[in-house]
Amino acid sequence: MKTNKINALSLSGLEPLVITPESNFINVGERTNVTGSKQFLRLIEKNDYATAVEVARHQVEGGAQILDVNMDEGMIDGVKAMTTFLNLIQAEPDIARIPIMIDSSRWEIIEAGLQCIQGKGVVNSISLKEGEEVFLSQAKKILRYGAAVIVMAFDEKGQADTFERRIEICERSYRLLTEKVGFPPQDIIFDPNIFPVGTGMEEHRQNALNFFRATTWIRKHLPGAHISGGVSNVSFSFRGNQAVREAMHSAFLYHAIKAGMTMGIVNPAMLEVYDEIPKDLLEHVEDVLLDRRADATERLMAFAEKVQQKGQVEQVAAEWRNAPLQERITHALVKGIDEFVEIDTEEARVSLQSPLKVIEGPLMEGMNIVGDLFGSGKMFLPQVVKSARVMKKAVAYLTPYLEEEKKGSGRTKGKILMATVKGDVHDIGKNIVGVVLACNNYEIIDLGVMVPTERILEEAEKHQVQVIGLSGLITPSLDEMVYVAREMEKRGLKIPLLIGGATTSRAHTAVKIFPEYSGPIVHVNDASRSVTVCSSLLSKDEQDAYVQNVKEDYRKLREGYLAKQSEKPMLSYAEARKNKLQLNFSENEIQAPLQIGVQQLIDYPLSELRPYIDWTPFFQSWELYGRYPNILKDEVVGVEAQKLFNDAQKMLDEWAAQKPVQANGVYGLFPANTVEDDTILLSGPHGNEHKLLSLRQQNKKAPGQPNLSLADFVAPQESGMQDYVGLFAVTAGIGLEDLVKKYEADHDDYHAILAKALADRLAEAFAERLHELVRKEFWGYQAQEKLSNEELIAEKYRGIRPAPGYPACPDHLEKKTIFEILEAEKIGITLTESLAMWPTASVSGYYFAHPEAKYFGLGKILKDQVEDFARRRNITTEEADRWLRPNLAYES
Ligand code: SAH
Repeated sequence: MKTNKINALSLSGLEPLVITPESNFINVGERTNVTGSKQFLRLIEKNDYATAVEVARHQVEGGAQILDVNMDEGMIDGVKAMTTFLNLIQAEPDIARIPIMIDSSRWEIIEAGLQCIQGKGVVNSISLKEGEEVFLSQAKKILRYGAAVIVMAFDEKGQADTFERRIEICERSYRLLTEKVGFPPQDIIFDPNIFPVGTGMEEHRQNALNFFRATTWIRKHLPGAHISGGVSNVSFSFRGNQAVREAMHSAFLYHAIKAGMTMGIVNPAMLEVYDEIPKDLLEHVEDVLLDRRADATERLMAFAEKVQQKGQVEQVAAEWRNAPLQERITHALVKGIDEFVEIDTEEARVSLQSPLKVIEGPLMEGMNIVGDLFGSGKMFLPQVVKSARVMKKAVAYLTPYLEEEKKGSGRTKGKILMATVKGDVHDIGKNIVGVVLACNNYEIIDLGVMVPTERILEEAEKHQVQVIGLSGLITPSLDEMVYVAREMEKRGLKIPLLIGGATTSRAHTAVKIFPEYSGPIVHVNDASRSVTVCSSLLSKDEQDAYVQNVKEDYRKLREGYLAKQSEKPMLSYAEARKNKLQLNFSENEIQAPLQIGVQQLIDYPLSELRPYIDWTPFFQSWELYGRYPNILKDEVVGVEAQKLFNDAQKMLDEWAAQKPVQANGVYGLFPANTVEDDTILLSGPHGNEHKLLSLRQQNKKAPGQPNLSLADFVAPQESGMQDYVGLFAVTAGIGLEDLVKKYEADHDDYHAILAKALADRLAEAFAERLHELVRKEFWGYQAQEKLSNEELIAEKYRGIRPAPGYPACPDHLEKKTIFEILEAEKIGITLTESLAMWPTASVSGYYFAHPEAKYFGLGKILKDQVEDFARRRNITTEEADRWLRPNLAYES
């Protein structure tokens, strides 16, 4: 990929979204739009914002990377609706994660929106429609609010409908924005108008083509600028014919992306996979899109009538076994079939007379195809992991011959060392990245979990690796990574360092790790991007430019971060405490548990947990995005999701029969009251008193909004009312390690990862089931509750079960207290030095029963609170800083 002086387009919600030339197409979620969705319009009209927020959540869960919000409707007070809705979703960390696109044709709505969003959003849109003066003044304001902007190809004379008009308007807008306003070119996104084709009107025949041409022209002549558009418009005249519309959208996107379109509003349910569009349909569709023949529209119309709805199952024949050797090997790799791999590998070995040549020849050729298909979005992660299994089996078969030949294991693109850092045990993500890189012909040296820095560095030097990849999921791992970087610097290393894992972020990497190490550092959080990053890092041609670019990027990010530090208004800890949530704790709100004290649940039946599984995160762990069960029918990933789901069911059946893994749980319900606002005094077993320490939000709230702390959900001691809290810890990972080792010994990463992902699911299901039992039976405050699994997942019940390490209670040290009170080691769960739970498939937390108890995010806190916290914990402030690092509003 060429690099040039222009920076990437960086947007952000709570998390950054950096759009570089290597990025895949960016999906803009479109359901939170009153002009595009009747359902959403009705919700807003009814003032049902709670459900409207859920629509946004579905979009995010469904894989939207930017959320378009539009409130332009005559009957709605747009400013008010925009403000209310945006404020609500900004308070939901799982939605606010992604950048917002404020979509309106009215400036006052746009400006109201700009005042609500955090991070860096996009305004959709401005144009020269009302002349230069208005255009320039709006652009200046947008720049000041720090947003990117979509510019419509529209001017005083009207909307651009030819190629010439499109480029004329876009160029003029670009010059005005960059020269008169000083708008960063990469923050300009053009919408060069997607108009319908196949309308039967002569002047519409070139509509798609002109869009492609304009896109190419803009990318070439207006450096940095991006292209967006609303895709479904193109197929407007084929309404009612889903199959044709889907094919047309995919074909349109295929050409538009090739021309340089970077983002767009697309309904993923209305997309067919380009390669799977039947050839004859594709030809007819492209004839229209590309205006390839005069009668294209009539022919497509006629053909469309014959196109029956899709959904036929492809017929699989064992015929492929008759194909030539290379084709068979490729087929087995692409399809992940390991049945014949040894026979085919042997045949190749005999014919090539060298095991090494088999690896470098036919096997590599097959894996390159797998890599290409994955890279271009035509294969998905579970398939790739299965391909890796076939590859590993082939290599395992060849290994004895390789040793005979006294040669290495072939030439690879480079050696990569991977490790989960000291104190941390999470490795699904790391393993997936490892497999994907291995598929792309990198040699992976995986040191496993809880790897001390010294060992990482020794092994790196011993194996002369070209890249080190670190992974971590819990907060202390962030510091551990900083430490690794510092040690690498001390040893004078220059090896590129990759940072990944759930707790890591681009910002942390840039601000904390980057300054410690002079070698290249890149934050990579998904498997598919790891390949392009490694290839850029190790390619002789690109290396320097790429590294310079990333460094520049991180340097800016760091400076921007440091400059922005104190922008958000904060309250002192004392003021925040004054503004606590004051709940009503009357007798009918508080109910004494039917059972007090600690109870264990040993070898809990997995069959009882299975119906409680929340499958959506399971698919996410395989990078398949969408909500269960709809994902099984998803147009893009449905087939693969269904296969993965079937494999999961099969494994669960095996577990039911053979019991290789066991689930244990422990819970306790105790009298408790809040003291000193943020400490919950709990009367534990054997008459011992324990303190649960909670933290309080310190960001300045809107009038009437409290500064929350979990302690607010428990009656204060001075109220004179006895209240209660619960604690729990569950695991579904007893025995899992042995099982995983067996799979790994058989080179079967697919089943190893599947087993881990399923154990995680069962642990969460156990947490859900136990919480239900607590509400209905053990505590008994909701004896009559009857909720379906969907309702449980949607948390429709009374009370919450926050987990230490999550946004309301980011302090992992609380796990120590919980474990001590419950004696959780007795059921087989232990804590690492960084307070990760082992086995990984474990969940622990608190129960709060008050009807008003809800999840929230602590956000940033000030030194005054951290000092008080350190005092309560009896640790130094430095140590407190370390545990709370991501929440500190100050440098430490
Ligand atoms: N059905 C999901 C449940 C896990 S995620 C699954 O199977 O994966 C939801 C859990 O995360 C909650 O039950 C709670 O334990 C924790 N959680 C979510 N948001 C939280 C917050 N803001 N503060 C504390 N804990 C939170």
